[in-house]
Amino acid sequence: MIRCSQSGCGWIAIAPSERAAWKQYETHILREHVEAVETDVPDGCVQVRTDDGEWKTMTREEAREFYDD
Ligand SMILES: [Zn+2]
Repeated sequence: MIRCSQSGCGWIAIAPSERAAWKQYETHILREHVEAVETDVPDGCVQVRTDDGEWKTMTREEAREFYDD
C-alpha cells in the first residue's frame, strides 16, 4: 500500500495494482501538494535556483537576465 509521505496528509492509494497506485500517488502529489507550493510565488514571478543552491523568487524579466549571465 502506498501512503503520501507529506506530513499531515492521510492520503492512501486505492488501486488494483502497484503500478496504478504509483500513478495515483503521482497525480495526488501534483494536485494536492505541488500547486499548494506554487501559490507562494506571486503572479508573474518564478522560482530560480541560484549558484548557492538556494531558491530565489524573481520576476520573469529578472530570471531571463539571470540566465543570460
Ligand atoms: Zn498528500
